Amino acid sequence: MTLIQPVAPSYVRELARYIPGKSIEDVARDLNLDPKTIVKLASNENPRGPSPGVLAAIAAAALEATRYPDGNGFALKAALSARLGVEAAQIVLGNGSNDILELATQAYLRPGDEAIYSQHAFAVYPLATRARGAIGVEVPARSFGHDLARMRAAMTPRTRMVFVANPNNPTGTAASRDDLARFVAAVPDNDVLAQDEAYIEFLDDPLDLLPEIRAGRKPNLLLMRTFSKIYGLAGLRLGYGIGHPDLIAEFEKVRQPFNINAIAQAGALAALDDTAHAAKTRQKNSRGLKFYARACRKLGLEFIPSSANFILVRVGDGQRVFGEMQRLGVIVRPMGGYQLPEWVRISIGTPKENKRCLVALQSALAKPESPTV
Ligand code: PMP
Repeated sequence: MTLIQPVAPSYVRELARYIPGKSIEDVARDLNLDPKTIVKLASNENPRGPSPGVLAAIAAAALEATRYPDGNGFALKAALSARLGVEAAQIVLGNGSNDILELATQAYLRPGDEAIYSQHAFAVYPLATRARGAIGVEVPARSFGHDLARMRAAMTPRTRMVFVANPNNPTGTAASRDDLARFVAAVPDNDVLAQDEAYIEFLDDPLDLLPEIRAGRKPNLLLMRTFSKIYGLAGLRLGYGIGHPDLIAEFEKVRQPFNINAIAQAGALAALDDTAHAAKTRQKNSRGLKFYARACRKLGLEFIPSSANFILVRVGDGQRVFGEMQRLGVIVRPMGGYQLPEWVRISIGTPKENKRCLVALQSALAKPESPTV
């Protein structure tokens, strides 16, 4: 008897899975190491974590876990709305900003539509695009960053969405304010401009696109932000999108009714007030970036100057160096999946973690490559 099985559409079958950074537990299990001795610098998290006040808010919210969360995130939206100077109806909450990316493609892309993104940009853009049967158009990078002029030129009547990460992950590059402003103005009104600001808080002088949204000048502009990076809450999964009320209204229809859990809402609400903690993180991150830049120069290693909380370093065979470093208990991210096989991405850790990472990097580089059979 022939077994008949459900068949997913070809555009789903052809997708490759997203490979996340290795967790401490994975590495401890695989290499039989003590998890406490492992340093993870692989997923651009905040090594300082959230502040004690935020942890207390999380603990208090855990006591209410028996109830469904507020499906409309009233308190958090109200706080964000006051902070950002936009209406609550201009904000959609997501289970990480990754959720907002998914919702954007779900609400706005049809099979056959085109979505544009840059080479070496965040891996979820092609995944979320193709999962809808839409066509991803990758525009070659310029000096590892987005080539915005070329991205604009790549737009056709079939284009429905364009993704811009500023700063970009994994390269840490940022567009100049002028280039970005010109690009935002040039994107046609019927194409969604998904502006990924996951790392915006690490920029010294970012172009503020909120006035465009407040004034209703760009009804196609979607800003995406997250509590995963500077706020140190990656494990809670909370991101948000900001845009014109009509743009956001469609997101509200396709999201899960309770996509943000109660603990995440409480943690994020407390974190939002924690501006001193965020400022300190920025300062420490910038010292960490300088530490790696100095070390790379000393070792003669090429690196890409970064505007975010990680740095790309050219190490030769990225996969091999990643493996060697992992054996030494330091997890970084190999970049083969981003068409950067010679590079590893290192998230900025605490000063102690950064020193340990550098020692592991040097040992890995000093180790002769095993002969290939
Ligand atoms: N955008 C970019 C550019 C990222 O690097 C990431 C996470 N690595 C995300 C979005 C998603 O982050 P989260 O879902 O944790 O908000």
